[in-house]
Parts: sequence; C-alpha cells; structure tokens
Amino acid sequence: MTRKIKLTLVVLLTFCTILMPSYQAQKKAQTPTAKTSKVVDDTALKQADARTSDWITHGRNYAETRFSPLDKINATNIKQLGLAWSFDTNTNRGLEATPLVVNGVMYTTGSWSVVFALDARTGQQLWKFDPQVPRALGAKACCDVVNRGVAIYKGKVFVGTLDGRLIALDAATGKVVWSTVTVDQNQAYTITGAPRVIKGKVIIGNGGGEFGVRGYVSAYDAETGKQAWRFYVVPGDPSKPFESKALENAAATWKGEWWKMGGGGTVWDSLAYDPDLDLLYVGTGNGSPWNREIRSPNGGDNLYLSSIVALRPDTGDYVWHYQTTPGDTWDFTATQHMILADLNLNGRVRKVLMQAPKNGFFYVLDRTNGELISAEPFVTVTWAKGVDKETGRPIEMPNARFKTGYSVLKPGPLGAHNWQPMSYNPKTGLVYIPAQDAIGLYLADGRFKYVPNRPGLWNTGVDFVLALKDVPRPEDIPPGHLLAWDPVKQKEAWRVQYKSIWNGGTLTTAGNWVLHGTADGRIVAYSADKGEKLWEYNLGIGIIGSPITYEVDGVQYISIMAGWGGAYALTGGYAAIPDMNVKNVGRVLTFALGGKQTLAALPKQIPSLTPIESKAAPEAAAEGQMLFAQWCGVCHGLGAIGGGGVLPGLPFSKPEVFQMYKEIVLDGSYASRGMPGFKAYLNQEEVEAIRAYIIQRRTNIATGK
Ligand code: CA
Repeated sequence: MTRKIKLTLVVLLTFCTILMPSYQAQKKAQTPTAKTSKVVDDTALKQADARTSDWITHGRNYAETRFSPLDKINATNIKQLGLAWSFDTNTNRGLEATPLVVNGVMYTTGSWSVVFALDARTGQQLWKFDPQVPRALGAKACCDVVNRGVAIYKGKVFVGTLDGRLIALDAATGKVVWSTVTVDQNQAYTITGAPRVIKGKVIIGNGGGEFGVRGYVSAYDAETGKQAWRFYVVPGDPSKPFESKALENAAATWKGEWWKMGGGGTVWDSLAYDPDLDLLYVGTGNGSPWNREIRSPNGGDNLYLSSIVALRPDTGDYVWHYQTTPGDTWDFTATQHMILADLNLNGRVRKVLMQAPKNGFFYVLDRTNGELISAEPFVTVTWAKGVDKETGRPIEMPNARFKTGYSVLKPGPLGAHNWQPMSYNPKTGLVYIPAQDAIGLYLADGRFKYVPNRPGLWNTGVDFVLALKDVPRPEDIPPGHLLAWDPVKQKEAWRVQYKSIWNGGTLTTAGNWVLHGTADGRIVAYSADKGEKLWEYNLGIGIIGSPITYEVDGVQYISIMAGWGGAYALTGGYAAIPDMNVKNVGRVLTFALGGKQTLAALPKQIPSLTPIESKAAPEAAAEGQMLFAQWCGVCHGLGAIGGGGVLPGLPFSKPEVFQMYKEIVLDGSYASRGMPGFKAYLNQEEVEAIRAYIIQRRTNIATGK
C-alpha cells in the first residue's frame, strides 16, 4: 500500500453609522431576565419565521432552514462588522452548539454538556449549569465531548447530556426542574444532539454507532420528563415481540444475529418537523458494526439504517421511510441536517425535504410520502455511479463493498457532509453546504471480535490499524469547500474552496449573505447570490460551530461558538490543527456593525521536547505503535501526533508524565480529566510498549525525523 493511499485515512477519522449609537447605548441597558423565554410555546415555534428578532429553535424554525429574515446587516454594510463581545467558556474541547436567543437572552452549550445563559447584548453570564458528566466517559464518545445545543419551551431549557440524561432547567435560574436518564448507561450511548420540542414533547436521540448500540429516538413530556414514546431504528432479537409492525417489517431486511451487536442506526443529530403534515422527520445513523458482512452476513438493506424516517410526533408511529444507503457498510449516516422547503419543480410546487448526507448525493424527497424526486452527487462520488430514479437505490460500483482486499472510495467515513448544518435561502433558492472532499480506505478487519463498550476502541469491523499508525503531514489535509447548491437544477451555483475539511455550519439571511466559520480559524461572509467574499475575521482557532443572527433593541447581532474539536480534530493529528502552538480557547463570539471589541492574543502552548530516556528494546516501540493505533489513535491522533490540539499530543508531554504511564493508562489516575484507566484491556507490558513508541516519536520529532 502506498503512503498516499494510507494517508487517505487521515480523513477517517471537519450601517451604518446610524445604528452605531444605538448599539453603544443598548449595551448599557438593563440586564434582561431569562423569564421571558415563556413566550416560546407551540404557536411561537410553529411561527418561528415570523418572530424575526429571535432564534428559538435549533434550525431557527421547524423546517430547519437556518435562514433569518433580518436584513439590517446586509451585503453592502457587512464590512463594518466588528466584535461586540466575547464570552470564554473556559474549555479547550470542541464547541458545536447553535445558540438560541429569546428576548435578549442567549442559551447555549459548551463541552461536557454545560449550559450557559448569557445577556445576548453583552455576553454577561446570567447563569451556568454543569451537569457534572463523569469525565472518563469521554473515551466512550466517538467524536469529542461536544454538544450541539438546547431546546426552549414554556420557560424551560432542555439539554441532552453526554452520559444520556435529558435535563429540564428553569430558564430564569438554570435550576434543575427534572432529569431523566434516557439510555442504558452501562452501554456506550452518548447524547451530543440538540433536543426539539413538538406539542409539549421533548424529542431526543443518542449516539454510539461506533461502539455497538441499538439506535432510537424518544419523546418525553416537557412538564414532567416522563417518557411518552420510543421509536427503535433497528429491530431487536426476533425471538421476542417486535416493538412495532415497522420493526417486524425491518427485521426481514436483516440476516444473522445482528441484535447481538446492537445494529446501530443512532439518531444523533438531525430532526425536522412539518406542522401541517404533522410529520417528524428523523435522520438515522450508520450500521454497527460498520461492515455489513459482519453485522448482517449475506446482505440485506438493514432497515432503517442510514434513512430518513417520518414519524407521528404524538405517538412515534412510523409513517414512511427513504433509505439513502441500503446495506450501509461505509459509515454513511443519514443523520445530516434536513431542510424542509416548498420548491417549484416543473411548474408544480412540491413540499420537499432536502438532505446532503455523508454518502455524497443531494436528495430532494417529497416529504408528504418519501418519494424520491431527485438525487445527484454534490461532490466526487466513487462508491456509486448514481441513484436509480425508479428504485431510489444507489447504483453501487463493483469494488465498493471491499469484499476482496481494500477499497479507496469517495466519500469516506467523515462524509461528503457531516453534522455541520447547511442553510437554505428562499431568496436565492440556494442551499449552502459545508462540503468535504473526503476519502476513505476500507479494509475488512480479519481479526474483528465484537466487544461492546470498550473505551477508545471502535467496533467497526473495518481495519484501522494499518492506516492509523501513519504520521499525517500538513499537506495530507483533505480539502473542503462551501458549496452553494441549486436544489431545483440539482447543480452547483458557486463554491469557495478551503484547504481543509471540517469547517463549521452555515447561516444565510435576507441581507444576501452567508456566514461560515472555517477549520483554518476564520469567520467569513460571502454574498449569498454570487459567493463574493464580503468580510473576514481571523480568529486563529479552528471553528466548527454554526452561526446565528438575532436582534435586541433594534440592533442586529451575529454570534458563533468557536472551539476546535470533533471527530476529525481528534483523529487528524497535526493535519487537523490550524496552529499547534496556539491554545484552543473556547468562546462565544458576537459581532455587530460598529463593534469595537478586541481579543487578547491567544495563549501559546509550548510543547516539551526535552529528551526522555528509554530502556525499552527497539521491538517494543514497534509493538507500541500497533497498540497505539488500535487503542489510542481515534482520540490522541494519527501517528500519536496529538488529538488535533484538543487532546494532549503525547510526545510533547512534560517529562514527569513519562514516569506515570502505569498510573495514568492502567490505573486511571487522570480519569477526572477525561482519560479512563485501561486495566481491563491492556497489561503493563503493553503500556510499556506504548510508552516506548511515544518516546520514539518524541525523539523523532525533536530531531526532525
Ligand atoms: Ca458513525
């Protein structure tokens, strides 16, 4: 295998002056109280578009368009944008949340599911809630200890926590009203997604598809926290009664003893709702293990993996489904953001659902019944030739399922588009997608043995070891781009090329602009119609968050969370870091026309490279390299380079850390910092081998090898 091919696995694992006085004056106005969030009720949620000044639900409205009708900041004056305020979350992990704003109060989440209520005009903290997620749980989260935000309803704020709780907080005080455990906490379930509230029920799913769980989405009574319904995505043990007729039907598409390995299909991010049709749309995840040959030997579509499923929000009853990737074997989730819109197609207005899932095709479905209207590749796709319009199924390429040897495919497990939300501007008719030119190297894992709930080690049935042991270089970063896509013509309108994948979510407005945070640490505004660069702010820290805009006291603001992290940051090593000598400082950044705040220079983190003596035999380092790739690489980065500046770069540890490997790696002495003990999985000799490898890496880095 050539180096180039091996390195493809890097991707496995991105006014004008008239208003200025008012902005300055309003900053000093009275602090708002969070009581006013009571205005968010069913009517307000249904008519979120009419509530122009606020951002009351995750995707701004139930249709999840991420389009704001505000236009005080427009393509002409956006160049006068400046920093109004910043709020430090005191974290160095990934920040993925979309903040919500109601009547001048911002509610958002940070790493470890911590919730913040801030004065949306000044960034002053009103309250903070830390659910005290056990830090050692971080190793059971595939993709960093992130959280994508809260839901608000009738004076309560709802957050799903990494350890599987759904918690209702008093919006005025941040005090717990109720807390419900939504998962079996002995399994590797995690919650990173934002809840939605529909007719008094809080909808929440979970993640864990890399570790061997059975995915589901549930609804809880917003007042009491009592479970109302649960929809399992994949069938359980067929010797027991199926939970629904839909699952009985699904079981016919599975083979072998899938239920013993969980099956996957986690609902870890996207949800959308159409109040007129009364349909809740759920995006479902990949199969677990990834490799279908192991999960469902001899085939089968494996419903309802990698699908869009329409449910009744009152009962969780199945209505229809459309499977984007039948028999998923590539980690091609359909959990990516879904947008509901009414499009004029061939002279007829159709109620559509749009999704650009990991598999690289842009889907336009009839959302009344799940019928495929169109599907075209929005990036280079090599795993399938296209989508058959009659059957709605992808036409797979012969080598796609890596049954003999390995296959290098586009896209890869990081997806042509990951969780970072896209946006839809009805004025331009374009969808703005944070697209990725991701590649995947797929090789069946001949040594695979299903062991659930192991920290760090994924149950994929795809061999990572060979690829994960390689050392990525900055030139190996796969490129990404902001893609403006015409969903009617199913073709590209314009694009802005980026040097890296793993850029943030997008926001678009009636002011004819699109805002995008980038992996290389910039916040950039482009004209929505043409993609011309209008404004840029250079932060110097990779951004994956999704911007919002809102208005308080007549002043329009733009806000975004900035903190590098997530799956690509952890696995990508150096290749994923904008600047490895800069500390990853988590922040909420808010801009307004005429904003004049400045940020202090980012603190430096100086890596240690003083020589460490090793008495280990040379073979130990080679053995350690294999063990590291198997056990440590998905968090601490390819080639032990470091988890994207998010988790420690082990070769750069202080000298004393090298004397503590037994205590840290086996006994779990750093568990409170997110590093669990591996005593149940590794022995002292193996830990010594890993240590020898890390020392070898340190020596090589110090000597420029
Ligand atoms: Ca996955």
